[in-house]
Amino acid sequence: MKQINLAAPQFLEMILVTILTVFRMISFMQRSIRELRRGQQEVLEQLHQTPNFIRGSLLERYLPCGKKNCRCKSGHLHGPAYYLSVTYAGGKTRQVYVSKDAKATVEEWIHNYREFWAVLEKLTVINLELIRLKAISRQR
Ligand SMILES: [Zn+2]
Repeated sequence: MKQINLAAPQFLEMILVTILTVFRMISFMQRSIRELRRGQQEVLEQLHQTPNFIRGSLLERYLPCGKKNCRCKSGHLHGPAYYLSVTYAGGKTRQVYVSKDAKATVEEWIHNYREFWAVLEKLTVINLELIRLKAISRQR
């Protein structure tokens, strides 16, 4: 059986390098935990300022009218008219007419909904990492 000489300089150097590496890792982890917590706070503040939103998509339609002898009967359809289409969890879809005045607001709400999900995803990534690093406290 081969004996390890504990006093050998190579062995002491190896221990020293290992200790230094562990310290560097701990310091790196603490720094990244701090950054993750800062990111978590930023996202939570962003969530508190969440603007109005709606899930759905805006459809543009060109339609015929009910008048006889109208140009739309020969293919020149009226439009564009806008409809907000929302699909429910069961798969049912509801469409609501959106006036030209309301169009910009509805588009903004749809955009805000997507942004909201992006923020939730960001918070999930941060929190997952904090859980993995065992850096969550009871009060949160
Ligand atoms: Zn018409």
